[in-house]
Amino acid sequence: MTVTDTGKSNLVAVEPGAIREDTPPGSVIQYSDYELDTSSPYAGGVAWIEGEFIPAEDARISIFDTGFGHSDLTYTVAHVWHGNIFRLGDHLDRLLDGARKLRLDAGMSKDELAEITKKCVSMSQLRESFVNLTVTRGYGRRKGEKDLSKLTHQVYIYAIPYLWAFPPSEQIFGTTAVVPRHVRRAGRNTVDPTIKNYQWGDLTAASFEAKDRGARTAILLDSDNCVAEGPGFNVCIVKDGVLASPSRNALPGITRKTVFEIADAMGIEATLRDVTSHELYEADEIMAVTTAGGVTPINTLDGEPIGSGAPGPMTVAIRDRFWALMDEPSPLIEAIEY
Ligand code: PLP
Repeated sequence: MTVTDTGKSNLVAVEPGAIREDTPPGSVIQYSDYELDTSSPYAGGVAWIEGEFIPAEDARISIFDTGFGHSDLTYTVAHVWHGNIFRLGDHLDRLLDGARKLRLDAGMSKDELAEITKKCVSMSQLRESFVNLTVTRGYGRRKGEKDLSKLTHQVYIYAIPYLWAFPPSEQIFGTTAVVPRHVRRAGRNTVDPTIKNYQWGDLTAASFEAKDRGARTAILLDSDNCVAEGPGFNVCIVKDGVLASPSRNALPGITRKTVFEIADAMGIEATLRDVTSHELYEADEIMAVTTAGGVTPINTLDGEPIGSGAPGPMTVAIRDRFWALMDEPSPLIEAIEY
Protein backbone atom coordinates (compact mmCIF):
# COMPACT_ATOMS: atom_id res chain seq x y z
CA MET A 1 0.00 0.00 0.00
CA THR A 2 1.28 3.43 -0.88
CA VAL A 3 1.07 6.59 1.12
CA THR A 4 1.45 10.02 -0.39
CA ASP A 5 2.85 12.98 1.42
CA THR A 6 0.70 15.78 0.02
CA GLY A 7 3.53 18.29 0.55
CA LYS A 8 1.07 21.15 0.90
CA SER A 9 0.03 20.53 4.47
CA ASN A 10 0.87 17.91 7.02
CA LEU A 11 -1.96 15.66 5.87
CA VAL A 12 -0.98 12.24 4.68
CA ALA A 13 -3.42 10.77 2.19
CA VAL A 14 -4.06 7.12 1.51
CA GLU A 15 -3.97 6.43 -2.23
CA PRO A 16 -7.36 5.78 -3.89
CA GLY A 17 -8.24 2.15 -3.57
CA ALA A 18 -6.16 1.62 -0.46
CA ILE A 19 -8.16 1.79 2.72
CA ARG A 20 -5.65 1.32 5.45
CA GLU A 21 -2.24 2.44 6.52
CA ASP A 22 0.52 0.60 8.37
CA THR A 23 0.03 0.57 12.12
CA PRO A 24 2.68 -0.41 14.66
CA PRO A 25 2.03 -4.06 15.61
CA GLY A 26 0.45 -4.47 19.02
CA SER A 27 -0.35 -0.76 19.31
CA VAL A 28 -3.71 0.68 20.32
CA ILE A 29 -4.39 1.79 16.74
CA GLN A 30 -5.57 -1.17 14.67
CA TYR A 31 -7.91 -1.15 11.69
CA SER A 32 -10.90 -3.49 11.41
CA ASP A 33 -10.39 -6.66 9.47
CA TYR A 34 -12.92 -6.63 6.63
CA GLU A 35 -13.28 -6.48 2.89
CA LEU A 36 -15.16 -4.05 0.70
CA ASP A 37 -17.85 -5.40 -1.60
CA THR A 38 -16.61 -3.63 -4.70
CA SER A 39 -19.66 -4.60 -6.75
CA SER A 40 -21.17 -1.42 -5.25
CA PRO A 41 -20.04 1.81 -6.94
CA TYR A 42 -20.14 3.44 -3.50
CA ALA A 43 -17.65 1.02 -1.93
CA GLY A 44 -14.74 2.96 -0.45
CA GLY A 45 -16.19 6.47 -0.50
CA VAL A 46 -19.48 8.36 -0.83
CA ALA A 47 -20.44 12.02 -1.12
CA TRP A 48 -23.84 13.65 -0.67
CA ILE A 49 -24.21 16.67 -2.94
CA GLU A 50 -27.41 18.56 -3.75
CA GLY A 51 -29.58 15.79 -2.41
CA GLU A 52 -27.84 12.88 -4.12
CA PHE A 53 -25.49 10.17 -2.97
CA ILE A 54 -22.53 9.91 -5.38
CA PRO A 55 -19.41 7.69 -5.46
CA ALA A 56 -16.60 9.80 -3.95
CA GLU A 57 -14.59 9.71 -7.21
CA ASP A 58 -17.44 11.43 -9.05
CA ALA A 59 -18.06 14.13 -6.43
CA ARG A 60 -18.14 17.64 -8.00
CA ILE A 61 -19.38 21.02 -6.80
CA SER A 62 -20.00 24.27 -8.64
CA ILE A 63 -17.00 26.52 -9.24
CA PHE A 64 -19.41 29.39 -8.44
CA ASP A 65 -19.99 28.24 -4.88
CA THR A 66 -18.75 31.07 -2.60
CA GLY A 67 -17.44 28.36 -0.32
CA PHE A 68 -14.79 27.93 -3.01
CA GLY A 69 -14.40 31.56 -4.08
CA HIS A 70 -14.53 33.25 -0.68
CA SER A 71 -14.05 30.35 1.73
CA ASP A 72 -17.51 31.40 2.91
CA LEU A 73 -18.34 28.26 4.83
CA THR A 74 -17.96 26.21 7.93
CA TYR A 75 -17.24 22.50 8.21
CA THR A 76 -16.43 19.69 10.55
CA VAL A 77 -14.55 16.42 10.30
CA ALA A 78 -15.80 13.50 12.34
CA HIS A 79 -14.43 9.99 12.30
CA VAL A 80 -15.58 6.40 12.22
CA TRP A 81 -13.44 3.77 13.90
CA HIS A 82 -14.24 0.05 14.08
CA GLY A 83 -17.64 0.85 12.58
CA ASN A 84 -18.56 3.37 15.28
CA ILE A 85 -19.00 7.08 14.60
CA PHE A 86 -17.45 9.22 17.35
CA ARG A 87 -19.22 12.20 18.94
CA LEU A 88 -21.37 12.93 15.88
CA GLY A 89 -23.75 15.01 18.03
CA ASP A 90 -20.90 17.25 19.19
CA HIS A 91 -19.62 17.67 15.64
CA LEU A 92 -23.08 18.65 14.43
CA ASP A 93 -23.55 21.09 17.32
CA ARG A 94 -20.24 22.80 16.44
CA LEU A 95 -21.12 22.84 12.74
CA LEU A 96 -24.57 24.33 13.31
CA ASP A 97 -23.21 26.83 15.83
CA GLY A 98 -20.59 27.95 13.27
CA ALA A 99 -23.27 28.19 10.58
CA ARG A 100 -25.43 30.34 12.85
CA LYS A 101 -22.51 32.68 13.59
CA LEU A 102 -21.84 33.02 9.85
CA ARG A 103 -25.56 33.52 9.13
CA LEU A 104 -25.60 30.35 7.06
CA ASP A 105 -28.69 28.18 6.97
CA ALA A 106 -27.97 24.48 6.55
CA GLY A 107 -31.66 24.07 5.71
CA MET A 108 -31.70 20.80 7.62
CA SER A 109 -32.10 19.75 11.22
CA LYS A 110 -29.36 18.14 13.27
CA ASP A 111 -31.18 14.80 13.00
CA GLU A 112 -31.45 15.04 9.22
CA LEU A 113 -27.74 15.85 8.91
CA ALA A 114 -26.92 12.91 11.19
CA GLU A 115 -29.02 10.51 9.09
CA ILE A 116 -27.38 11.54 5.79
CA THR A 117 -23.93 11.35 7.37
CA LYS A 118 -24.49 7.84 8.69
CA LYS A 119 -25.96 6.78 5.33
CA CYS A 120 -22.80 8.01 3.56
CA VAL A 121 -20.66 5.91 5.89
CA SER A 122 -22.93 2.90 5.58
CA MET A 123 -22.97 3.04 1.76
CA SER A 124 -19.17 3.45 1.70
CA GLN A 125 -18.85 0.25 3.78
CA LEU A 126 -15.87 1.86 5.46
CA ARG A 127 -15.27 0.72 9.05
CA GLU A 128 -12.64 3.43 9.42
CA SER A 129 -13.59 6.69 7.80
CA PHE A 130 -12.87 10.41 7.63
CA VAL A 131 -16.25 12.14 7.49
CA ASN A 132 -16.55 15.74 6.32
CA LEU A 133 -19.66 17.94 6.55
CA THR A 134 -19.48 21.40 4.99
CA VAL A 135 -22.07 24.19 4.87
CA THR A 136 -21.32 26.88 2.27
CA ARG A 137 -22.96 30.18 1.30
CA GLY A 138 -23.54 28.46 -2.03
CA TYR A 139 -24.33 30.09 -5.36
CA GLY A 140 -27.06 32.05 -7.09
CA ARG A 141 -28.99 31.79 -10.36
CA ARG A 142 -26.58 34.28 -11.93
CA LYS A 143 -23.04 32.97 -12.34
CA GLY A 144 -20.72 34.68 -9.86
CA GLU A 145 -23.65 36.30 -8.02
CA LYS A 146 -22.28 38.57 -5.27
CA ASP A 147 -25.56 39.57 -3.59
CA LEU A 148 -25.43 37.46 -0.44
CA SER A 149 -29.23 37.40 -0.18
CA LYS A 150 -29.49 35.69 -3.56
CA LEU A 151 -27.26 32.73 -2.77
CA THR A 152 -28.62 29.27 -1.99
CA HIS A 153 -26.69 27.69 0.83
CA GLN A 154 -25.32 24.22 0.21
CA VAL A 155 -24.49 21.25 2.39
CA TYR A 156 -21.87 18.73 1.27
CA ILE A 157 -21.14 15.54 3.17
CA TYR A 158 -18.66 12.82 2.42
CA ALA A 159 -17.17 9.67 3.93
CA ILE A 160 -13.79 8.51 2.60
CA PRO A 161 -10.96 6.29 3.88
CA TYR A 162 -9.25 7.63 6.98
CA LEU A 163 -7.01 10.59 6.22
CA TRP A 164 -4.39 11.20 8.84
CA ALA A 165 -2.82 14.46 9.97
CA PHE A 166 -0.55 12.18 12.01
CA PRO A 167 -0.39 8.58 10.80
CA PRO A 168 -0.50 5.79 13.39
CA SER A 169 3.29 5.40 13.62
CA GLU A 170 3.68 9.07 14.60
CA GLN A 171 0.90 8.78 17.16
CA ILE A 172 2.71 5.87 18.76
CA PHE A 173 6.35 6.94 18.47
CA GLY A 174 5.92 10.71 18.43
CA THR A 175 6.76 13.42 15.92
CA THR A 176 8.62 16.67 15.40
CA ALA A 177 7.49 20.29 15.26
CA VAL A 178 8.81 23.80 14.90
CA VAL A 179 7.47 27.14 15.99
CA PRO A 180 7.28 29.13 12.72
CA ARG A 181 9.43 32.23 12.51
CA HIS A 182 7.68 33.74 9.54
CA VAL A 183 3.97 33.40 10.22
CA ARG A 184 1.50 33.84 13.10
CA ARG A 185 -1.99 32.38 13.48
CA ALA A 186 -4.73 34.80 12.43
CA GLY A 187 -6.14 36.57 15.48
CA ARG A 188 -9.64 35.91 16.75
CA ASN A 189 -10.75 39.36 15.58
CA THR A 190 -9.70 38.44 12.06
CA VAL A 191 -11.06 34.94 11.64
CA ASP A 192 -13.26 33.62 14.44
CA PRO A 193 -11.40 30.45 15.51
CA THR A 194 -14.53 28.99 17.11
CA ILE A 195 -15.99 28.58 13.61
CA LYS A 196 -14.16 25.72 11.90
CA ASN A 197 -12.91 27.22 8.66
CA TYR A 198 -10.70 26.77 5.62
CA GLN A 199 -8.70 29.95 6.22
CA TRP A 200 -5.52 27.90 6.04
CA GLY A 201 -3.11 30.47 4.57
CA ASP A 202 -1.17 30.78 7.84
CA LEU A 203 -1.35 27.04 8.58
CA THR A 204 -0.13 26.10 5.09
CA ALA A 205 2.74 28.61 5.25
CA ALA A 206 3.65 27.12 8.64
CA SER A 207 3.60 23.57 7.17
CA PHE A 208 6.02 24.66 4.43
CA GLU A 209 8.30 26.27 6.98
CA ALA A 210 8.24 23.08 9.06
CA LYS A 211 9.27 21.05 6.01
CA ASP A 212 12.00 23.52 5.13
CA ARG A 213 13.35 23.16 8.67
CA GLY A 214 13.17 19.38 8.62
CA ALA A 215 10.20 18.93 10.92
CA ARG A 216 6.84 17.26 10.37
CA THR A 217 4.59 20.03 11.58
CA ALA A 218 4.32 23.45 13.20
CA ILE A 219 2.84 24.97 16.33
CA LEU A 220 1.75 28.53 15.58
CA LEU A 221 1.83 31.41 18.03
CA ASP A 222 -0.57 34.32 17.94
CA SER A 223 0.42 37.98 17.76
CA ASP A 224 0.87 38.04 21.57
CA ASN A 225 3.39 35.19 21.47
CA CYS A 226 0.84 32.83 22.99
CA VAL A 227 0.30 29.34 21.60
CA ALA A 228 -2.59 29.13 19.11
CA GLU A 229 -2.81 25.80 17.24
CA GLY A 230 -1.25 23.84 14.39
CA PRO A 231 -2.22 22.79 10.85
CA GLY A 232 -5.27 20.74 11.77
CA PHE A 233 -4.73 20.23 15.48
CA ASN A 234 -5.02 21.67 18.96
CA VAL A 235 -2.04 21.80 21.28
CA CYS A 236 -1.95 20.61 24.90
CA ILE A 237 1.07 20.92 27.17
CA VAL A 238 1.92 19.13 30.39
CA LYS A 239 4.05 20.73 33.10
CA ASP A 240 4.54 19.21 36.55
CA GLY A 241 1.64 16.83 36.00
CA VAL A 242 -0.84 19.56 35.03
CA LEU A 243 -2.34 19.87 31.54
CA ALA A 244 -3.12 23.15 29.77
CA SER A 245 -4.33 24.23 26.34
CA PRO A 246 -4.85 27.67 24.76
CA SER A 247 -8.20 29.27 25.49
CA ARG A 248 -7.97 31.70 22.56
CA ASN A 249 -7.03 31.72 18.87
CA ALA A 250 -7.76 28.01 18.66
CA LEU A 251 -10.67 25.87 17.55
CA PRO A 252 -12.68 24.28 20.37
CA GLY A 253 -11.64 20.83 19.18
CA ILE A 254 -13.74 17.74 19.81
CA THR A 255 -10.57 15.72 20.43
CA ARG A 256 -9.32 18.26 22.95
CA LYS A 257 -12.68 18.14 24.69
CA THR A 258 -12.26 14.35 24.88
CA VAL A 259 -8.68 14.73 26.16
CA PHE A 260 -9.93 17.03 28.93
CA GLU A 261 -12.64 14.53 29.88
CA ILE A 262 -10.10 11.70 29.94
CA ALA A 263 -7.76 13.83 32.07
CA ASP A 264 -10.61 14.58 34.46
CA ALA A 265 -11.44 10.87 34.79
CA MET A 266 -7.75 10.18 35.50
CA GLY A 267 -7.64 12.88 38.18
CA ILE A 268 -5.34 15.11 36.09
CA GLU A 269 -5.91 18.86 36.37
CA ALA A 270 -6.56 20.37 32.93
CA THR A 271 -7.13 24.06 32.20
CA LEU A 272 -7.95 26.19 29.18
CA ARG A 273 -5.93 29.37 29.52
CA ASP A 274 -3.30 31.47 27.76
CA VAL A 275 -0.20 29.35 27.13
CA THR A 276 2.92 31.41 26.44
CA SER A 277 5.65 30.43 24.00
CA HIS A 278 7.99 30.14 26.98
CA GLU A 279 5.70 27.54 28.56
CA LEU A 280 5.64 25.63 25.29
CA TYR A 281 9.44 25.34 25.16
CA GLU A 282 9.63 24.50 28.88
CA ALA A 283 6.85 21.85 28.79
CA ASP A 284 7.47 18.31 30.04
CA GLU A 285 5.17 16.98 27.32
CA ILE A 286 3.43 18.43 24.27
CA MET A 287 0.59 16.72 22.45
CA ALA A 288 -1.07 17.51 19.12
CA VAL A 289 -4.73 16.48 19.34
CA THR A 290 -7.14 16.14 16.45
CA THR A 291 -9.75 13.91 14.88
CA ALA A 292 -7.30 13.12 12.09
CA GLY A 293 -4.49 12.22 14.46
CA GLY A 294 -5.78 11.25 17.88
CA VAL A 295 -3.26 12.25 20.54
CA THR A 296 0.20 12.60 19.01
CA PRO A 297 3.30 13.19 21.16
CA ILE A 298 5.63 15.97 20.01
CA ASN A 299 9.13 14.68 20.75
CA THR A 300 11.13 17.69 19.63
CA LEU A 301 10.44 21.39 19.16
CA ASP A 302 12.79 23.42 16.96
CA GLY A 303 15.13 20.41 17.07
CA GLU A 304 15.37 20.36 20.88
CA PRO A 305 13.90 17.49 22.94
CA ILE A 306 10.67 18.07 24.84
CA GLY A 307 11.10 16.32 28.21
CA SER A 308 13.12 13.19 27.52
CA GLY A 309 12.57 13.53 23.78
CA ALA A 310 10.31 10.46 23.80
CA PRO A 311 6.51 10.22 24.25
CA GLY A 312 5.72 11.27 27.83
CA PRO A 313 3.70 9.15 30.28
CA MET A 314 0.64 11.39 30.42
CA THR A 315 0.44 11.71 26.64
CA VAL A 316 0.74 7.95 26.24
CA ALA A 317 -1.90 7.22 28.89
CA ILE A 318 -4.36 9.72 27.38
CA ARG A 319 -3.65 8.53 23.82
CA ASP A 320 -4.32 4.90 24.73
CA ARG A 321 -7.49 5.78 26.61
CA PHE A 322 -8.66 7.89 23.63
CA TRP A 323 -8.47 4.93 21.24
CA ALA A 324 -10.06 2.59 23.82
CA LEU A 325 -13.12 4.87 23.82
CA MET A 326 -13.80 3.94 20.19
CA ASP A 327 -14.85 0.43 21.22
CA GLU A 328 -16.50 0.97 24.60
CA PRO A 329 -20.28 1.27 24.60
CA SER A 330 -21.01 4.87 25.68
CA PRO A 331 -23.01 7.89 24.49
CA LEU A 332 -19.84 9.02 22.65
CA ILE A 333 -20.10 6.36 19.96
CA GLU A 334 -22.87 5.11 17.71
CA ALA A 335 -22.65 1.94 15.66
CA ILE A 336 -23.15 2.43 11.91
CA GLU A 337 -25.61 -0.02 10.36
CA TYR A 338 -23.88 -1.46 7.32
N1 PLP B 1 -7.52 23.20 14.98
C1 PLP B 1 -7.63 23.22 13.66
C2 PLP B 1 -7.18 24.44 12.88
C3 PLP B 1 -8.18 22.12 12.96
O1 PLP B 1 -8.31 22.16 11.62
C4 PLP B 1 -8.58 20.99 13.71
C5 PLP B 1 -9.14 19.81 13.05
O2 PLP B 1 -9.13 19.68 11.85
C6 PLP B 1 -8.43 21.00 15.10
C7 PLP B 1 -7.90 22.13 15.71
C8 PLP B 1 -8.82 19.81 15.95
O3 PLP B 1 -10.24 19.72 16.03
P1 PLP B 1 -10.99 18.35 16.25
O4 PLP B 1 -10.43 17.72 17.46
O5 PLP B 1 -12.42 18.74 16.41
O6 PLP B 1 -10.74 17.50 15.04
